Amino acid sequence: MLCSSEVKYVKGVGPKRAEILKKLDIYSVKDLLFYFPRTYQDRRINAEKKEPSFDYVSSFKGTVKDFFEIYTSTSLKIFKIIVASEGKEIESNLFKRAKRNFDVFASIKNKIKKGKEIFIVGRADGDFFNPKIGVEEFYFPEDENYKINADRIVPVYSLTSDMDNKTFRGIVYKALDCADYVNEIINPYYIAKRGLLPRVTAVKNIHFPKDLDSLAAARKRLIYEELFLMAMAWAVKKRQTREIKKNRSYEIKRTLLTPFKNNMGFEFTASQKKAINEIFSDMNSPYPMNRLLQGDVGSGKTVVAISACLLAVENGYQCCFMAPTEILAEQHFMTFSRFLSSLNVRFEILSSSTHKKKKEEIISKIANGELDILIGTHSLIEADIKFKNLALAVIDEQHRFGVRQRATLRKKGENVDMLIMTATPIPRTLFLSLYGDLELSILTDMPPGRKPIKTFKTAEKEAFEKTKDYLKKGGQAYIVFPIIDESSKTEIKSLIAEFERINKEFSDYKTAMIYGRMKPSEKQKIMRDFSEGKIDILCATQVIEVGIDVPNANVMIIQNAERFGLASLHQLRGRIGRGEKESVCFLISEAKNDEAKERIKAMCETTNGFELSEKDAYIRGVGEVMGVKQHGDMEFKIASIYRDREILNWVFEDRDEILKEDPYMYKKENQALKKELRDLYGEKWHIIDLN
Ligand code: ADP
Ligand code: MG
Repeated sequence: MLCSSEVKYVKGVGPKRAEILKKLDIYSVKDLLFYFPRTYQDRRINAEKKEPSFDYVSSFKGTVKDFFEIYTSTSLKIFKIIVASEGKEIESNLFKRAKRNFDVFASIKNKIKKGKEIFIVGRADGDFFNPKIGVEEFYFPEDENYKINADRIVPVYSLTSDMDNKTFRGIVYKALDCADYVNEIINPYYIAKRGLLPRVTAVKNIHFPKDLDSLAAARKRLIYEELFLMAMAWAVKKRQTREIKKNRSYEIKRTLLTPFKNNMGFEFTASQKKAINEIFSDMNSPYPMNRLLQGDVGSGKTVVAISACLLAVENGYQCCFMAPTEILAEQHFMTFSRFLSSLNVRFEILSSSTHKKKKEEIISKIANGELDILIGTHSLIEADIKFKNLALAVIDEQHRFGVRQRATLRKKGENVDMLIMTATPIPRTLFLSLYGDLELSILTDMPPGRKPIKTFKTAEKEAFEKTKDYLKKGGQAYIVFPIIDESSKTEIKSLIAEFERINKEFSDYKTAMIYGRMKPSEKQKIMRDFSEGKIDILCATQVIEVGIDVPNANVMIIQNAERFGLASLHQLRGRIGRGEKESVCFLISEAKNDEAKERIKAMCETTNGFELSEKDAYIRGVGEVMGVKQHGDMEFKIASIYRDREILNWVFEDRDEILKEDPYMYKKENQALKKELRDLYGEKWHIIDLN
């Protein structure tokens, strides 16, 4: 069997399971081999074990003392096995749903005998004196799958509900027969230099490691490989974009830029000016721009983007401005209206809620060049949207979009200049690994006059009282709920259930609700009313998390704050502290959980996104940090750019060395690597010159 074979040819798979595996993006045997475990269970009998824990899966080997089926009146059947193990007798219960005319325990009854050895995996639910186990898996030594599942370190995979780990493990075990055909892709020189395992060995050991050391070595190799391929692809991609020339030039005519700047009502900050200069110089260069504008929430990225748009429009080109949600697109439309109303610029908004007739009108205008700027959601990348001469595309909150969407938007014009924006604070070295093909501008300062947002953890009553003081002085408030509808978990407050109570509490004020599944036109109306001050208190779900900009809103109450991640809390809080008024954020939480308490504490201590992301990394240790994992294009299977920084540095070093010596990967020792890159990224990233 070849690794490129379809997965259905693996013994034990077949067409039906192959369909299930597709849901996990597993099509070929190779996909299966590179579907790494999420975690492991140490089921070794003789390994040193941690303290036995009663909420944890435990496994043990023992001798069958006795067994019997218990007849229950319900539809549940119980098979009880008394197992003698290490001087204890453990009551092991196997539960099954009863089936009519069918003995659900037939297979175990066939095998089980008193005095026979049995290996049990289950969940402990007795107490110290009377150990009991709810059996999840059991194996007899003669079972074929004993060696896969018992007395060893066992892989645990993230699967769908129609595939269990035991089955999957068996399939992977079979597929490993062809692991010997997994080819090496890394030049032997670097394998030796970095002390990496051969690819074949790593793939085998990542699934069924012999011990913890061989697991660690397998991980190291596969982490290196994953980061290396990524870094390589970025480098190739970046070089390609450098080789393309755009057939376009811009001239700073100031016919729109100057009036915009003069009417803006404030001065650009120093870092806004710097970013604008960088953007203009990219736009003026012969190569397409590919720039990321990074700035904490509220740092003023929008006016920088508007400046870029105006340069394009001054020169007779079209731009588009894509945002991830309708609320945000609508708000950008309002911002454009505010700043550009007296200028001769034609702009429109397009989203999934745009009426058919209006949409047709927009489509025809954008194709004829009767519109200069098109603002919108994903709707902008639909096939029927054709621009006359799109030159610049702005993507706001880019981490909400995937690489494909970016690529599709880019193709709406010829060698489009791309400006993408994010509030996710990413340290520079990590930026390089994440977005190796982008240039970076950072807004380091905040617009002047911002008062720091004070953040407190308080009881709700106190938060309500204080909020009234702020409302009396003309402020506005957000009250954020973690969920919309009543849930079974009574300790979580939901928007719809609580709204009446909020209404009563704040009867002197005008309140409203906003949430995701509301009609877009209703959402628009509410956002407008709130920004015009017709609503004092806006009760919302997380829909307001990104981008919303109502400078007069200066109070935020976050209910069940423990339910939000640090990235979300920071984004949410970024909705206030945008104007001249003093702002305050109340976090309401009864959480007992340490991690949640740490997050809330971090929020009270700083408003700096960068510091928060470092704390987030610290609190969570590894893994998903401040939304980095949300980047559609950045889902690592096994590497973590935070945890694996050292390997990441090796990868950059090795990559640069390889590309310096053999920029187009013509050498024999780089052929396999080139093929792998083409397979992985060729189509997805439009890497074309990898022949
Ligand atoms: P973000 O970077 O989070 O997208 P916005 O672009 O929404 O931030 O800007 C936040 C607010 O700050 C807006 O109300 C905007 O008009 C205002 N703003 C932007 N730049 C300045 C500035 N230089 N001086 C004063 N206010 C500014
Ligand atoms: Mg924004």
